[in-house]
Amino acid sequence: MIYDCAIIGGGPAGLNAALVLGRARRTVALFDNNQPRNAVTHASHGFLTQDGVTPAEFRRIAYEEVLRYPSVEHHGRKVSSVRRTAEGFEITANTGEPVHARKILVTTGLQEILPDITGVTEMYGSSLFNCPYCDGWELRDQPLIVVSDHERIYHLAKLLYGWSQDLVICTHGSSTLTDEQKQQLTSRGIIVTEQKVVAFHGQNGKLEQVEFADGSRISRTGGFITPAWVPQAGFCEELNYEKSELGGIQTNETGRSSIPGLFAAGEAASGGSSQLIMSAAAGSLIAVHINMELTEETFGS
Ligand SMILES: Cc1cc2nc3c(=O)[nH]c(=O)nc-3n(C[C@H](O)[C@H](O)[C@H](O)COP(=O)(O)OP(=O)(O)OC[C@H]3O[C@@H](n4cnc5c(N)ncnc54)[C@H](O)[C@@H]3O)c2cc1C
Repeated sequence: MIYDCAIIGGGPAGLNAALVLGRARRTVALFDNNQPRNAVTHASHGFLTQDGVTPAEFRRIAYEEVLRYPSVEHHGRKVSSVRRTAEGFEITANTGEPVHARKILVTTGLQEILPDITGVTEMYGSSLFNCPYCDGWELRDQPLIVVSDHERIYHLAKLLYGWSQDLVICTHGSSTLTDEQKQQLTSRGIIVTEQKVVAFHGQNGKLEQVEFADGSRISRTGGFITPAWVPQAGFCEELNYEKSELGGIQTNETGRSSIPGLFAAGEAASGGSSQLIMSAAAGSLIAVHINMELTEETFGS
């Protein structure tokens, strides 16, 4: 059997694409190894009708809706390689037989690499986050810290001031802030430090204190960090697609890559998304383009 489309990655981008293609009566093999980027958090916010739901419940509802459409098949497997064939693509996963499809949609999102600071893994998703729009409301008016050696730190600091004015901005050993930026921050009562953070202290994921390299500590109940984001599309590198700035799949506004038949959406695509609803919207849009391409190939243009 040759599926119309293989979707690799069952986060909001892949699931919404599967929903659209299933409703368009396309045969879909949906591969997913169930490791979404937000798995560490207890509640996801900002998705209309699902605000505050757990990530697990979000996926449960989504899978229930998508798998109502009989032409969508769920393959709970990790894809390890993709290669071109005369009819399209052959997809090999860690278990089971290879699957063949006319089109491929990559929606595998991003892998996060957290900074090497003691306690960061325990706190991340509970009191340390990366996106103010996702978790700023829950931390509003609290004593917060921003730890980042990235140049985005100033932007993040400005933004967060809308959620809490009790801010410590820590460049974690780098000199990314200009004198003017430091002045803008300190004139608003924001504490700026260039020290390295060595540990986040607290219990059950709840931040209590931040320890700096000189041994000093400060009390904080939450904060924001900037993980490194690594695309997870290495399994189809053999296709030799043009890469995005992050090293993922370079796409245009229709989700097309430089390889005919290979599409990407959500955070796996260039431009990314950074929120569930944006990935879902991208998945929906790109599925429409895939369906159009399949239609033109069979019906003619
Ligand atoms: C701590 C934290 C909190 C967040 N909170 C929010 C929030 O409150 N609101 C919000 O809108 N967003 C939030 N986000 C962001 C949100 O998680 C992402 O924007 C969203 O998950 C991206 O969707 P996606 O479909 O592009 O990728 P993902 O959701 O990451 O889905 C990718 C899927 O692909 C699968 N996959 C990867 N590789 C393979 C492979 N080789 N084979 C098969 N399957 C594979 C993964 O297992 C995963 O299921 C948060 C993120 C983090 C880290």
